[in-house]
Amino acid sequence: MSKGRVTSGMRPTGSLHLGNLLGALDNWVRLQNEYECYYFIVDWHALTTPGGGGAIGYENVSGLTASVMEMAVDWVAGGLDPEKCAIFVQSHVPEVAELHLIFSMITPLGWLERNPTYREMVTSYKIENPSYGLLGYPTLQSADILAYKGEFVPVGKDQEAHVNMTRDLAQRFNSLYGRAVFPITNVLLTEVPKVPGIDSVERKMSKSAGNYIALAHTEEQTSELVRTMFTDPTKIRKNDKGHPEGCVVFAFHGIYNKPEQPTVRFECGEGRRGCVDCKKELAARMNTALRPIRERRAALKEHPDRLMEILREGAQRARSVARETLREVREVVNLPPREER
Ligand code: SF4
Repeated sequence: MSKGRVTSGMRPTGSLHLGNLLGALDNWVRLQNEYECYYFIVDWHALTTPGGGGAIGYENVSGLTASVMEMAVDWVAGGLDPEKCAIFVQSHVPEVAELHLIFSMITPLGWLERNPTYREMVTSYKIENPSYGLLGYPTLQSADILAYKGEFVPVGKDQEAHVNMTRDLAQRFNSLYGRAVFPITNVLLTEVPKVPGIDSVERKMSKSAGNYIALAHTEEQTSELVRTMFTDPTKIRKNDKGHPEGCVVFAFHGIYNKPEQPTVRFECGEGRRGCVDCKKELAARMNTALRPIRERRAALKEHPDRLMEILREGAQRARSVARETLREVREVVNLPPREER
């Protein structure tokens, strides 16, 4: 029996990197066995920023569909099972856009202007003229969750605040119209491994920083990227005593070679392990772990019809829930009844 309804989305950035896989997708895969899950690729959200510098945005839409499809392939290859969860594209459920519109009428402007994520995005993307869509991003995010009456959103500890606006909006709607249409969504706090970029243990792996290993990379490319990983710069020769704490290779041994990580630490610190061999061992373990995902990925790429079918079925399941939510919303807001398409 399901423990409740989970919703979560990812912005389309093409093939997943290890940070996406270990930091989000692996958790989603676990959740699909216990919850009723709705997972969507947020293509509309990709249009809230201008883009540029290779990134997708409203000024750079040429790679948008391809990016959505690459991500969908990796979701399924990474273990999301269309029999267990709904996998779909945000814009394939137009009811979300209608709910966003209705929510936008009752969202106080001050909530959006005070939103720290909005300010961060404007600063980090150096956006000179932020759009109406960017400011309203959290309202769309709330519609993404509440169209399916999402009870839980899986987040890391640092993202707890992202769900607050959805909770506030659900409360505001329910109290304005005197009916508990929406649940008050809770976070599902998740312990996820910290996944550093290949360039520094201090920086997170990300596409924009270019410090990533992707599922789409071949085993050879992966080994080459491991070879370039940042290590202890004071350890030049094999028998120099190293400091594994600041070494990216050591951090990844903690993920892909966990039982042996204490040995790696000991041998590095004692000058009994060289960086070249240490990297070769990590690359081999990483490639072994990723091989089944990459094989499923290749098989899916050969059958794009199967992927389209998964997305179509996922959108149908999601739409049947969202339609019912919108019927209820229209009723309490007292919009004239309409014939459903
Ligand atoms: S031996 Fe391994 S853990 Fe130590 S610095 Fe080199 S790569 Fe890092």
